[in-house]
Amino acid sequence: MTDFTSATDADGVAVITWDVPGKSMNVLSLEGLEELDGLVDAALADEAVKGIVITSGKDTFAGGMDLNIIAKMKDMAGDDPAKGLFEGVMRMHGVLRKIERAGMDPKTNKGGKPVAAALPGTALGIGLELPLSTHRIFAADNPKAKIGLPEIMVGIFPGAGGTTRLVRKMGAMAASPFLLEGKLSAPAKAKSAGIIDEVVEDPLAAAKAWVLTAKDADILKPWDAKGYKMPGGAPYHPAGFMTFVGASAMVNGKTKGVYPAAKALLSAVYEGALVPFETALKIEARWFTNILMNPSSGAMIRSLFINKEALEKGAVRPEGVPDQRVRKVGVLGAGMMGAGIALVSAQAGIEVVLIDQKQEAADRGKAYTESFMDKGIAKKKATPEKKAEVLGRITATTDYAALADADLIIEAVFEDPKVKAEVTKAVDAVTSDDCIFATNTSTLPISELAKASKNPEQFIGIHFFSPVEKMMLVEIIRGKETGDRAVAKALDYVRQIRKTPIVVNDARFFYANRCIIPYINEGIRMVKEGVAPALIENAAKLVGMPLGPLQLVDETSIDLGAKIARATRAAMGDAYPDGEVDEVIFWMEDEGRLGRKAKAGFYDYDDAGKRQGLSEAVKAKYPEADAQPSLTDVQHRLLFVQSLEAVRALEDGVLMDIREGDVGAILGWGFAPWSGGPLSWLDMLGAAYAAERCDALEEAYGPRFHCPDLLRDMASKSQGFYGRFGTQADAA
Ligand code: NAD
Repeated sequence: MTDFTSATDADGVAVITWDVPGKSMNVLSLEGLEELDGLVDAALADEAVKGIVITSGKDTFAGGMDLNIIAKMKDMAGDDPAKGLFEGVMRMHGVLRKIERAGMDPKTNKGGKPVAAALPGTALGIGLELPLSTHRIFAADNPKAKIGLPEIMVGIFPGAGGTTRLVRKMGAMAASPFLLEGKLSAPAKAKSAGIIDEVVEDPLAAAKAWVLTAKDADILKPWDAKGYKMPGGAPYHPAGFMTFVGASAMVNGKTKGVYPAAKALLSAVYEGALVPFETALKIEARWFTNILMNPSSGAMIRSLFINKEALEKGAVRPEGVPDQRVRKVGVLGAGMMGAGIALVSAQAGIEVVLIDQKQEAADRGKAYTESFMDKGIAKKKATPEKKAEVLGRITATTDYAALADADLIIEAVFEDPKVKAEVTKAVDAVTSDDCIFATNTSTLPISELAKASKNPEQFIGIHFFSPVEKMMLVEIIRGKETGDRAVAKALDYVRQIRKTPIVVNDARFFYANRCIIPYINEGIRMVKEGVAPALIENAAKLVGMPLGPLQLVDETSIDLGAKIARATRAAMGDAYPDGEVDEVIFWMEDEGRLGRKAKAGFYDYDDAGKRQGLSEAVKAKYPEADAQPSLTDVQHRLLFVQSLEAVRALEDGVLMDIREGDVGAILGWGFAPWSGGPLSWLDMLGAAYAAERCDALEEAYGPRFHCPDLLRDMASKSQGFYGRFGTQADAA
């Protein structure tokens, strides 16, 4: 079984075909690289071969590097992982550079064999870096294909020459969205941007024809020719200089300095631009090794790539339950959430019945899909036909009889147990016995709501985040009596709508809200203590949270916070720990400072609802103390308060798998993605240091920072979460 094969046709074109057995998309492994190298050597040495075309046996070209390999390369290198990684990366450069030089005489730049890439579809990561090393890239005219270098999204950067080649091909400025933001483009756009060279109907035929006619000058890369100048100017050129000044500022502004890959990428580009190409590749390899050695990149790859994908593919799906894909979903309540759930379901090809109390309300819910599709058409992301197709799948009605043949119901009616119970009963009266019933409640215990169901085994929580079409996480909640088929149904549904699921057990606020509420509360507590709101907000952002806690509560609204606080206090009685927070929240509520929607909250807003500065009124009520805490202290409070809650969720059995804890935190509420998630973050700190910090924070700020027994035990055994529970994560 080989990943690459080669066959030379009658015209003398060696076609090297990449077709990894048993995978739907090609990914490059170390063995694959060696095979490719051998085939390139053979083709270059064979006098009968006039040119080489590298293509794929699948309908896509390649999805990238097998990222598991990076972790393995590190492990394999033993005592000196940096050396092992650097050598591995340089080996990759060696193969690609050989393709690029294609046997040319180093002095005359003549005598090489033309090499072209023929991409039938998507080409990502190394799947584009390899084509970039060839002399001409032909891609099929396939608007669904994606071309780009998304490495930055998982905490690394294109390290197989992609960074150096793209910058030299396009210029630093033009390359920056593709390198720094991981922007992906359809072939036609990739061509107009200058990433690839041709978009054709039959890329293999076009590439073959090209290699047979290409001349020496056609296969010499500009950077290997005399007098090469970088497009847009090198760093020592006035225009280039400005690019780099701007880029540094932009990278720091966007990453707040917590994503090491973006900075390393920029260094590789800047330093590489000052030296000859081969040296630039070596510099790129050094920075790439530096990033691969950084714990952040390992944790990001683990959570955002390996484990996210494992969860999407059903790592926690109950075994032995047959396919539960949804055909027809009934969505009850056509408000903000119901409208979004109808949209994403219809987009996934599922028939939808959208029900509300009044026909106008149901229609309004359906109109959400219409306006979403209209926006897509305006942005050329959708067509009028697609809009008609998606809208055609949604029936907006008040008639429960339309639910008779639905196989999944998701209710998103008011957050009121009585209303939810009525709806559950009304649905049970019309649906078949196999139908699974899901609630989208954010705060009510699933096991309690299930009491209204005729079949609690078929009752489950499917908790979406708002806005439904944007948020990638779906939290599936198992009630006490929820059966495996309901879990499988929820997971299969989430897979259909292409989101990432986590499965948790039923407990107050499930998992995501359980951790995010303390984050918000900690921010509000600090306001009450007299910590400068600007310090709180900036500390959060500088540690990688997408929104400061005060901005977040302004967005979700103060009255929602007050409502949750009242309900929690009623449920917990004397054990309720957040009285200090409530004082601030209730004052804000009384003042009508309900957040962004009221154009007044912890921040001020203009008439259009645009956020201005932090509110002077809040500062007047809670004056800033003379002595302010250190930045690290504030950051530790904000991150520990979430992470310890994640640990407690694991101790309590709400979380059943550490991967879900980390992936769910990043996708659900944006927990500092650079860290790989709260449990990865604690692993980075080390359990012993984390326990020590808990003790200090508990003493200074109270028992919410009490070190959980699990963490204390791990500290005594010098364990990390991924060390202790790693086998569970590996096994699935
Ligand atoms: P919403 O007020 O926007 O919508 C609720 C809809 O349900 C309204 O259109 C209402 O007319 C309809 N409705 C009420 N009783 C009904 C009945 N008996 N039959 C049919 N329709 C009925 O509320 P929302 O923000 O969409 O929230 C809905 C649910 O989703 C709640 O349980 C909420 O806790 C949960 N949720 C909300 C969010 C969020 O951010 N808003 C996030 C996750 C979960």
